[in-house]
Amino acid sequence: MELTHSLTATFRAQFNADPLLICSPGRVNLIGEHTDYNEGFVLPAAIDKAIYLAVGPRSDSQLHFEAVDLQQSYTGSTDRLTKTNSWADYLLGVVDQFQKAGLATGGMNVVFGGTIPIGSGLSSSAALENGVGMALNELFNRGTVDRLDMVKLSKQAENQFVGVQCGIMDMFASMMGRANHVIKLDCRSLEYAYARINMAGVRIVLCDSRVKHSLAESEYNTRRAECEAGVKMVQAAEGDTIRSLRDVTMPMLDKHLNQQEPLLYRRCAYVVQENKRLLEAVNHLESGNLYAFGQLMYGSHEGLSKMYEVSCPELDMLVDIARTVPGVFGGRMMGGGFGGCTINLVQADELENFTNVMRKRFLARTGLETLLHVCQTQNGTHVL
Ligand code: ADP
Ligand code: MG
Repeated sequence: MELTHSLTATFRAQFNADPLLICSPGRVNLIGEHTDYNEGFVLPAAIDKAIYLAVGPRSDSQLHFEAVDLQQSYTGSTDRLTKTNSWADYLLGVVDQFQKAGLATGGMNVVFGGTIPIGSGLSSSAALENGVGMALNELFNRGTVDRLDMVKLSKQAENQFVGVQCGIMDMFASMMGRANHVIKLDCRSLEYAYARINMAGVRIVLCDSRVKHSLAESEYNTRRAECEAGVKMVQAAEGDTIRSLRDVTMPMLDKHLNQQEPLLYRRCAYVVQENKRLLEAVNHLESGNLYAFGQLMYGSHEGLSKMYEVSCPELDMLVDIARTVPGVFGGRMMGGGFGGCTINLVQADELENFTNVMRKRFLARTGLETLLHVCQTQNGTHVL
């Protein structure tokens, strides 16, 4: 691959040594949105867009990082890890977590770049963190750090060093993914199971609305609070066995919220139904019924748009257009909402038509260019 060759060449020229090469993928989430913080299920997969890192140990304690995509570099030391408020924090944060966990670290050289669109919701940040974790594991810990521990270290790096309060799904999917599989992850227990998805002749296509409405963050916090408020009301009536929306059923919502708090009812009902959709969707995967799976993706979008109200006109339009194109199994907005990408399952032999129609109609209706990213599932973070 051209990128790994050029990273290797840059590494050799700079450090006069051969690097170890690591591939760390981005991720998509097929269904299960806004369920993670409600102790529900998500269904992510690692994709064939990744961060690639050329890494090697140093004899001193210096850290040399080079981000080839940004044409920027960073030099520091493992003795003193200070926040930079830049991309380097994603690497430093992982070194910091390894140190705090009592694992070995040392001076190292890292030259990295990637094919994941940055900041589009495909988790370039988690991919980068996992790649650094894998580097530290291979270079200084003889590969003995458990994958799940690396997932947790990456998450803590982003929470504590970078300062983003994300959940664990992104790191989990990037590290634990498998080609031709999705991961059914229980966000309450972190139990997980792989479900096979037959990707022969199928592509995952992201349509980037390229908008990011300023509402995103405040509405995210509002939704979390609304879910908590709903849980409190059900708990007051049903008792302390109700700890999260995971414990709540539709009959409970009908009884305790529908009349009393119609807005909270809609929010909570969406989450309860989304978990149900996800479990159904996994069954459809097992019987190889991508068509039925896709219908549930549309159902997810409908709920996110009408009941949870985190979509926006651009995302709704992308899903509306996709519905009319032949060879589309299903689609929905992906991520927190108010912008970002839709995710679509598309028959490979209809891809060209899909691409053309999406571009043309979205432009005609909004005056905006959509960016399409076509991907496949692949294995999680690994040494090449
Ligand atoms: P996402 O994870 O959805 O792509 P984030 O905002 O969480 O978006 O993370 C993006 C950040 O991760 C970038 O601003 C940058 O600091 C870092 N990053 C990701 N990919 C790269 C890259 N190829 N080169 C340098 N930094 C990167
Ligand atoms: Mg991220």
